[in-house]
Amino acid sequence: MIEKTFVAIKPDGVQRGLVGEVIKRFENSGLKLIGMKMQWLDKEFALKHYTEDISRRRGEKVRELLVDYIAEGPVVAMVIEGIHAIEIVRKIVGSTEPRTALPGTIRGDFCHVSYDHADKFEKAIRNIIHASGNKEDAEYEIKLWFKDKELHSYENSNEQHIR
Ligand code: GDP
Ligand code: MG
Repeated sequence: MIEKTFVAIKPDGVQRGLVGEVIKRFENSGLKLIGMKMQWLDKEFALKHYTEDISRRRGEKVRELLVDYIAEGPVVAMVIEGIHAIEIVRKIVGSTEPRTALPGTIRGDFCHVSYDHADKFEKAIRNIIHASGNKEDAEYEIKLWFKDKELHSYENSNEQHIR
């Protein structure tokens, strides 16, 4: 069940100097980094990333706030590969609202704000990182962000321990 998933360290994660900390957590788990780049999105690209699915699930206002948030500074985008990678990466990332994200997860360890607080300030909730929510989103997001030749196939030293 080898899967690929898409991750982006959002502008707050980059600005707070958490890039290394975040990548370390994925590497520690034995997952494989197969693509990575820094990119500063324009609004047009941001709207392709946060599709109408967000408006359906969270409302049009959240989508607008999210587009401002993700485009406010550079992000570090990655593709990560491994067994059940989509689910495992979401587990390492933690739940969406930092208030309830568990300690030990990226969101639980590095942020704490609540939906109520973010909504009061009319800001998307700042939670450091994006990770694809399911297989369909992962396929769409990887294709949107990376060309085939930007993704690399190689053996890492963890592989001898998972066979
Ligand atoms: P994720 O997959 O865990 O990132 O969550 P979603 O895909 O549902 O939402 C995307 C992003 O929108 C989240 O990571 C938050 O940054 C933001 N967000 C979601 N829901 C809300 C909300 O109710 N209020 C605010 N202010 N931001 C939200
Ligand atoms: Mg999502």
